[in-house]
Amino acid sequence: MERTLILIKPNALQRGIVGDIITRFERKGLRLAGMKMLFMTDELVAEHYAHLVERPFFPYLKASMQAAPLIACCLEGAEAVETVRLMVGVTNSRKALPGTIRGDFSMSGEQNVVHASDSVENALVEINRFFNPAELYDYESAVTRFEYGGEESQKYM
Ligand code: UDP
Ligand code: MG
Repeated sequence: MERTLILIKPNALQRGIVGDIITRFERKGLRLAGMKMLFMTDELVAEHYAHLVERPFFPYLKASMQAAPLIACCLEGAEAVETVRLMVGVTNSRKALPGTIRGDFSMSGEQNVVHASDSVENALVEINRFFNPAELYDYESAVTRFEYGGEESQKYM
């Protein structure tokens, strides 16, 4: 099944909404394949946000990602990358639709609660950036057949 990476950002940790965010993904039926708490080093920030290093807001973004530890999760499900991005909402939380995580939990374009991989290709790179293979788990789920239809099971699993 497809996997994606989410980071529950330091601002979410400070605000005590980590559980609310994980609950959203759990309720949706996205399965946790891995989860850990870590502090983002200078190297990790530069690598993870390499596409933004030249932007004027980068120093603020970097400081916000290092303000506290964060929670990294690898989530699994059919078309998980696209589904999770839809659940997270657009970058600027003020424009993010109600019902999305950013739309419901944040007022900010920077302190926007969660990171999610934006393509299947990037998800693979980002999962490897935050997890060793041994930290990711394949396990049997008792409810998969109630979460997906027969045709979907053929196609995505
Ligand atoms: N960001 C910001 N100002 C901007 C654009 C982005 O502070 O104008 C921050 C914000 O925290 C965002 C992160 O940089 O989540 C990564 O930006 P990206 O464009 O990859 O957005 P995302 O994929 O997180 O929606
Ligand atoms: Mg991005």
